[in-house]
Amino acid sequence: MEASHMEQQTLRLQGCMYQYSRAIYRTLKDFIDPYADVQSRLASRRAVLLACEQTMERLAGDPLYFSKPDRALFQDIRRHFPITAQAHVAWTVNQGVAAAVTFIEEQIEAGALDGGVARCRATTRKGRPCQRTPLPERDYCPSHQHLEQRRVAA
Ligand SMILES: [Zn+2]
Repeated sequence: MEASHMEQQTLRLQGCMYQYSRAIYRTLKDFIDPYADVQSRLASRRAVLLACEQTMERLAGDPLYFSKPDRALFQDIRRHFPITAQAHVAWTVNQGVAAAVTFIEEQIEAGALDGGVARCRATTRKGRPCQRTPLPERDYCPSHQHLEQRRVAA
């Protein structure tokens, strides 16, 4: 039951995330190599849209452990754009992905991703509750398991 609830939350989140991939795509599509033939340009558009969507799906499914999603997306799509557009593409990707990450973090803080799933009891360096899954039959995740050992020893 909890798994399917969690899946629903992930699906809902992915639906929201498509707004962000579409926004990035809309800004970028007109910069796709203007000298390429029509077929290549269409293929590039599809590839860019797909890369944006995959980035957002991955962010929605694994928001805390997808490091540097903007860099990853830029690397994936930059070959579809002329040299003169690279800086603009990088900036657009950076801004668009940052907006999506902010949205996801707000969802996490609002508890939208909890879904009744057990969470590590530690607090992160930023003072937020750790979102990782505890070790089996433990209260803490692998990164924070030393806290539990200390408690057991005391
Ligand atoms: Zn933890």
